[in-house]
Amino acid sequence: MRTFPIFLSFDGKPPLVVGGGALAAIKTRLLLKRAERVDVAADALGSELSQFAGEGRVVQQPSRPGVDQIRGRPLVISATEDEAEDARIAEIARALGVPVNVPDRPALCTAALAAIVDRGEVTVAIGTAAAAPVLAQRLRAWLENELHPRLGDLAALAGQFRDRVAAALPEGPGRRRLWERIFDGPAARAMLHGDEVTARKLIDGEIASAASAENDGAQSQQGRVLLVGAGPGDPELLTMKAIRALKAADVVFYDKLVGDGVLELARREAELISVGKAKGAHSVPQAQINALLVARAKAGETVVRLKGGDPFIFGRGGEELDALRTEAIAVEVIPGVTAGAAAAASLQIPLTHRDVSHTVTFVSGHEAGGKAPSFEHLDLRALASGNNTLVVYMGVTTGAVIAQRLLDAGFRDGLPVMAVENASRPDERRVATTISALANDAERLGLNSPAVLIFGEVAGLPAAGAVETILAHEEVVRAYA
Ligand code: SAH
Repeated sequence: MRTFPIFLSFDGKPPLVVGGGALAAIKTRLLLKRAERVDVAADALGSELSQFAGEGRVVQQPSRPGVDQIRGRPLVISATEDEAEDARIAEIARALGVPVNVPDRPALCTAALAAIVDRGEVTVAIGTAAAAPVLAQRLRAWLENELHPRLGDLAALAGQFRDRVAAALPEGPGRRRLWERIFDGPAARAMLHGDEVTARKLIDGEIASAASAENDGAQSQQGRVLLVGAGPGDPELLTMKAIRALKAADVVFYDKLVGDGVLELARREAELISVGKAKGAHSVPQAQINALLVARAKAGETVVRLKGGDPFIFGRGGEELDALRTEAIAVEVIPGVTAGAAAAASLQIPLTHRDVSHTVTFVSGHEAGGKAPSFEHLDLRALASGNNTLVVYMGVTTGAVIAQRLLDAGFRDGLPVMAVENASRPDERRVATTISALANDAERLGLNSPAVLIFGEVAGLPAAGAVETILAHEEVVRAYA
């Protein structure tokens, strides 16, 4: 059953429950959370339903309702516990276009009832398309715990200020930022503590200052840019600040390496624009990205520049920052989990280790123009003495050349290398090899981008999870000797 969640209005005709037993009572109780009155069609009402009837909340109707009793209902629930009768009701409702639910008989339903977390004005509805009701109940229990009990009061209070906010600020980013300040700030905290008087005062203050800032013109019209690290792909590795930035974005400019699950966290109305840079194929040149960021921020928007891993590790974040500073645009930088750190965590191999590695060096496997790096800036002989970990980014196609340069500089032949492709993603792949095997036959690793190469004794420590092993020819000979 494929379903789309919506909220039905019960302001017109009351919903109809067919059946007078225990199941009908459960469903009626649920509907009464929102309906003032529920009509129940049954010959006899069980004790709970009779009690509701006594309170005037349930009105008993003749059993076996027909077309006239069903037409125009916002919802019909058939809980007669009589298969044929439920099927008859479902057929009439379906023919009339009235949403119908029959508990535990998805084939008869055109509507599924959600598990509900109820906070007054705020309702969270959880659906699993009838596939896993127990899972829905668990999610509900979790949300019950997460959502503040006074959340509904906060929403109701905000509702009372809507017209005033609309009068004070035109529709757009300024108005949304005001609401964000209200919901993230002391006003909301006061309300959740039950102090409505203070909350009202604080909201008054926020509206006044937002309105005067709006009138001050240009300055307040200017937006800002958040340079956000999206991490290696797994959305669970985002920071809370990154999530908050995504939820506040008017527009998100993202790279190719940003995972789909991460983009799904962006504000629903945010514009998502790929400036996806794959190696060698810059779909949008850097200068143009800089210009786009500047232009959108000047137009007053909250601009998120979402970059794989950490924005300041081989991400050209520095250039974007310069461009924004030159234009005096407000910038915030939110760090992310860099690919090398994610790979190490997944392998459970530390990048530094008291016994075998005291430093870690992140290097790019490409120079501008796509060449293999000369590593002139690195003191390779010092690194060759051991006690160091080298993490190479963008080194999939240049891995063999890099390994040879390191060997020439005195790295030992059998130095372990661990390659991790798609770290933190469902298709993560790890290949263990040695520096000489990599220099002689990089093809055998069958590596695809994105991948990091970890060179160093730490790469030989026991790794967690499945690792493919590629040995150099001499090592194969030695292994089988
Ligand atoms: N700013 C990024 C790096 C961008 S450079 C960061 O901090 O991670 C792009 C390179 O990052 C890729 O060529 C690859 O070497 C590495 N990379 C990015 N995501 C990766 C991933 N999920 N798994 C392995 N390597 C990754």
